[in-house]
Amino acid sequence: MSGPVVRFAPSPTGLIHIGNARTALLNALWARKNGGTFILRLDDTDRARSEERFAEAIKADLSWLGIAPDRIKRQSARMTRYEETLAKLRELGRVYACYETEEELDRKRKRQLGRGLPPAYDRAALAMSDDDRAKFESEGRKPYWRFKLDHHVAKWNDLVRGEIAIDTASLSDPVVCRADGTWLYSLASVVDDIDMKVTHVVRGEDHITNTAAQLDMFAALGASAPTFAHHNLLTLPGGEGLSKRFGSLSIQSLREAGHEALAVAAVAVLTGTSHAVEPAESLDALAAKIDFGKISHGPARFDPADLDVLTAKTLHAASFAAVADQLGALKVGGGEQFWLAVRGNLVKLAEAAEWWEVVSAPLATKIADADREFCRLAETLLPQEPWSEKVWDEWLAAIKPVANRKGRELFHPLRIALTARENGPELRALLPLIGRARASARLRGETA
Ligand code: GLU
Repeated sequence: MSGPVVRFAPSPTGLIHIGNARTALLNALWARKNGGTFILRLDDTDRARSEERFAEAIKADLSWLGIAPDRIKRQSARMTRYEETLAKLRELGRVYACYETEEELDRKRKRQLGRGLPPAYDRAALAMSDDDRAKFESEGRKPYWRFKLDHHVAKWNDLVRGEIAIDTASLSDPVVCRADGTWLYSLASVVDDIDMKVTHVVRGEDHITNTAAQLDMFAALGASAPTFAHHNLLTLPGGEGLSKRFGSLSIQSLREAGHEALAVAAVAVLTGTSHAVEPAESLDALAAKIDFGKISHGPARFDPADLDVLTAKTLHAASFAAVADQLGALKVGGGEQFWLAVRGNLVKLAEAAEWWEVVSAPLATKIADADREFCRLAETLLPQEPWSEKVWDEWLAAIKPVANRKGRELFHPLRIALTARENGPELRALLPLIGRARASARLRGETA
């Protein structure tokens, strides 16, 4: 038996943010965990708003997050299938032509609301005669098409939310094709899910009502419906949606701000679940934690500051192999020894480049006057090469009996002389990387 087939279906009308990444990762990683297939489906039927640069940006963002779609599909390439389906539904009497303008519909909605009724479409178009239709056509109006819901209580067992029941009589018959012939997402998505043999639809809970209508479309088309999992949406601490902070929470901005992809993925996936939001060792480790039953029913609140914390924690635990490529791109050398020396001090990976400069490039040190003599003394006591792993301990053991200093008075001047920084990684780990010649010159106050 082949594994599950899932899809992430963004509209390429803008950049994706961490909330969209949550949907993408839940799909892709769950498929990975279950030996399934992950489709990136670009919902680009809105030709006016869809742009190629956004389609490219979405692919680049997914790739940065570590997700490679098994297949990429575009709705714009599938118009014939939607037309065929509309024709079939017309034959079956499951779609009907409508002519009301937006203003007319708006007036109807207001009247219904005024009478305390749900603002569902009243199906007036269904009662039109051929003459009525001819009259509209002669005025130059073109029809748009609504899917006629079979009024009943739609029920499904949602993998996140359990049993859901929605009375479709409370819903408007969804518009599936506009008067200008463009397709709306609801039917196009069902046609795609059938043709692409999607087994599980994993998407935000804002689509729950759509699901009730779409289940009816699957049935009308004689297809069995996929299993649904509607996850909670990421919200800001005050409960607001992410659009408020869109600029800084797009995947592109998070990448540019130096966040680790694995940290962004961990925040995106683990927030709003019964798991703690903690760094993941790898995407596979994160995938192993995905369990739709562990996603909570309340909103997935997160503080953007969590991203800084997780990025730092991810770096502190990252193996050299995990970051070697990124370090190479930053022109940071020193291999694993350097990485293990500095990782615990990093908030962002780019800071590794600063520490690489400290250990490998000429540095002007600023030894205080009161420490000059001490640093000179320490310099004379530097162990001879070759240095062992214990060079720092050997050096300190030589300094302590003669220097008459201890604690900060002893360490701080050595740190300033060797790194020109107030704080940083342990000198024990840095000294071997700095090397004897450079350390010696710096202790003498030379730029080296
Ligand atoms: N294009 C839809 C959206 O972005 C897809 C929803 C779905 O996954 O079915 O909301």
